[in-house]
Amino acid sequence: MTQEKYYFENPKSSIRSLTEDEIEAAIADYENGVKISEICQKYPKVKVSSFYKQLPYKLNQEKCEYCNNQIYTKVRKNGYGNDLAKLCIYCNHDYTKNCNCEQCFHNTNVALEEKRKELQIVWKNFYTEYYNLNYTLNDISIFDEIYLVLLIQSYKGTFENTLDFSYFKQLKFQVHASSHEYYSVINNLIDRKILIPNIYYFDSYDYIYSSEPSLPTINSTKINWIPNIIKTSGTLLSVSELDKILKERTYSVEDKKILWREVYWSEIKSYINDQSNKYLKMVIDDQTIEQVVDGLQPTFPLSKAYNLIYIAINASHRYMQDYSKNERKVNSYFRNKMNELILRYQDHKNLKDYNRLLYIELSYFNQYVLKNILKQENAYFYLSTDKILDNPIVG
Ligand SMILES: [Zn+2]
Ligand SMILES: [Zn+2]
Repeated sequence: MTQEKYYFENPKSSIRSLTEDEIEAAIADYENGVKISEICQKYPKVKVSSFYKQLPYKLNQEKCEYCNNQIYTKVRKNGYGNDLAKLCIYCNHDYTKNCNCEQCFHNTNVALEEKRKELQIVWKNFYTEYYNLNYTLNDISIFDEIYLVLLIQSYKGTFENTLDFSYFKQLKFQVHASSHEYYSVINNLIDRKILIPNIYYFDSYDYIYSSEPSLPTINSTKINWIPNIIKTSGTLLSVSELDKILKERTYSVEDKKILWREVYWSEIKSYINDQSNKYLKMVIDDQTIEQVVDGLQPTFPLSKAYNLIYIAINASHRYMQDYSKNERKVNSYFRNKMNELILRYQDHKNLKDYNRLLYIELSYFNQYVLKNILKQENAYFYLSTDKILDNPIVG
């Protein structure tokens, strides 16, 4: 097969009209760095614009590494690089890294596929070694259980039976108003390996193939997660199975005591924080709050506890004006005042019920406990602890 001596990338090239000698001379001039305007002055038919593109490729003795036809070569634009630009006009191979010819495309895919298989082996070895222990339902706390139910509710992925936190980070943890509540919870469950990555990580995410991790980097937002809790048969519980078990589980009085304490404590803490911030402009410390909760919880519903806190905060405010603004002294005054009030109002005589402040958010955890476990989501604020625990079903 004879091949044309020149190949014009631009079929309308004005250089086509020149004789072979003139074409050779024009190419030589360009190679030697003669200005394009000067070259064009010699050949009035040649257009100045896009001159390089008009210059032809020239047939070379070298054969294409893929299809064995003779390739064409051309000087680089503005003498850029010492080698010649190569092109096979039969298979479109251009010998560059970005070549789009069929064979190069195929080779790239083969290389990617190999890389992917390598990564899968690395990942699987890592996975078996790092996640070699499983939990049973008995190993996890009642708090973990409830958080798992809440996470399943909010983050059950589009992949069947996985948890997908991918939107979590993108929206800066603001999926819902209270989602900061979930941030540490998710990290904690991942750290303790109660949540583990879905083994099919590399099968599901194409972009990981192009990165070059020597070891898998686990990014909680880029993979789907599954619970690492086994059934008696030894296989992992699926997200749906776990969800069902946890929702249908019954809770003992002991469990309920623990959970009610959590709700009561956080309701008291929120109110004290709110009131001290507003009237005292200082912090009542956690230790004081803990002691106040211990004193209030056995006898006072939250509605009456709020009344006592209101009185004690007011008294502390007067104490600050009359005596001292020292934070430690105010804390201790507040604690003593609360103890005094708790004793004085043991029988609740002349103690009005306060209403809950609606702007204080009830956490998802507490909402779940009140609604699904204590079954007191509406009345809980006005009931004493013994009512909450004795009479869990109302309505
Ligand atoms: Zn070729
Ligand atoms: Zn190619």
